[in-house]
Amino acid sequence: MSSLEEVAQQVSVCTDCPLSKGRTKAVPGEGPADAEIMFIGEGPGFHEDQQGRPFVGPAGQFLDQLIMSAGLKREEVFIANVVKCRPPNNRDPLPGEIAACRKHLDKQIELINPKVVVTLGRYSMARFLPNQTIGKIRGRARSVEGRLIYPMYHPAAALHNQNLRKVIEEDFKAIPGLVKQGAKETQPEEPSVQQLSMFSQDQ
Ligand code: SF4
Repeated sequence: MSSLEEVAQQVSVCTDCPLSKGRTKAVPGEGPADAEIMFIGEGPGFHEDQQGRPFVGPAGQFLDQLIMSAGLKREEVFIANVVKCRPPNNRDPLPGEIAACRKHLDKQIELINPKVVVTLGRYSMARFLPNQTIGKIRGRARSVEGRLIYPMYHPAAALHNQNLRKVIEEDFKAIPGLVKQGAKETQPEEPSVQQLSMFSQDQ
């Protein structure tokens, strides 16, 4: 594979895990090949599976609002997921499914080479920051594999939780500055705990 189009083609016919059996359309991800920022979520939901596009349901509408609030345009960022096919009934992706799909995401990251990767939710976070708790490390960027990784809660977590919505909106404000900061500067390796008393659950 040598281009994003080829990755998308590979994804569209991929049968490397059982999620291929239930999909309507695979969702490889979308955005420009030279995107400075990449958002990585968990997996397609109902609307994404129907349209073959990432983040087009209610969580996607919230993500669009967040992107605009940061002075960015959806067309200038790349949006993808850790698994490219919809898990049945929107269940969490299984470790074997994530492992099988990793090659597609890895190739996209290699081709795009973004300055900043924003991980949305714990499964995406675990790709770069394993064995961490999202409630403890969200909202703090750190350097992994030569680029800034910025863990956030998944936008879907905010749809029924106003407190989480405020946290996500607040975390999003740092993104324009992170893009300017690029991949060279890092935050402290062990970030201080923020607002842990407000949240006892992971998203
Ligand atoms: S989820 Fe990924 S590994 Fe599984 S079938 Fe779809 S593209 Fe292939």
